[in-house]
Amino acid sequence: MIRKTIIAGNWKMYKTISEAIELATKLKRGLYELEESVIDIVICPPFTALSEVAEVIADSNIRLGAQDAFWENEGAYTGEVSCRMLKDVGCSFVIVGHSERRQFFGETDETVNKKIKAALKEGLVPIMCIGETLEERERNETFKVLAHQLKEGLKGIDGNQMLKITIAYEPVWAIGTGRTATPQQAQEAHHFIRNEVKGVYGGEVADLVRIQYGGSVKPDNIAELIKQPDIDGALVGGASLKAEAFSEIVKQSYRVNS
Ligand code: PEP
Repeated sequence: MIRKTIIAGNWKMYKTISEAIELATKLKRGLYELEESVIDIVICPPFTALSEVAEVIADSNIRLGAQDAFWENEGAYTGEVSCRMLKDVGCSFVIVGHSERRQFFGETDETVNKKIKAALKEGLVPIMCIGETLEERERNETFKVLAHQLKEGLKGIDGNQMLKITIAYEPVWAIGTGRTATPQQAQEAHHFIRNEVKGVYGGEVADLVRIQYGGSVKPDNIAELIKQPDIDGALVGGASLKAEAFSEIVKQSYRVNS
């Protein structure tokens, strides 16, 4: 396998500190046997639990990620958290441009672009989320939307930087709805995304860039999704809140690729 599988859990606005410690502890115990050379396992708790979760998973095969970041390193930006602060607390990944942030908090392709650059500057891996709404899919605009989000979100990013970015294809209509894209629908979108990357950065970069699928991933649908040639992992929301379900998703992905 040319691209290492990556499974990331987005805990969204769930888990108090003690609940987060409990979940991280269970994951650490359940997944300790998996080789880091085969799979990247990432968990993205809310900001308030990052520090404690970092302690739990220190010296484990699980990496820490955040769900968002601001693009400045410090300043009078009440309520924001910078990439430097995330690095400081132990993060190595950060989700950027999640559809819930685009939908409810005014995230745009322009802010996504700034955040990606800020993350790269701090040595964090940005997980760049893109995806079409149901209306856009029904209007046959999926590819147009994806191409636009990629073009604007990746403005000014060079080939070397592109290799450090993970893309997450998350059809908005499949997030938190229980409605998963079929493996064929997801593969088609992933293939399109890889081709777009190829058009700008060339085949070598496109072959190495990882593209995760996100949208109601569960233990009973991960196997078919992860088998698709252009699906390199998953970004998991709801199912990442339960140790058994997330561990099962990780283990199935591991088996398919090891
Ligand atoms: C997500 O939050 O990125 C996500 C894909 O959520 P869910 O798995 O719950 O659809």
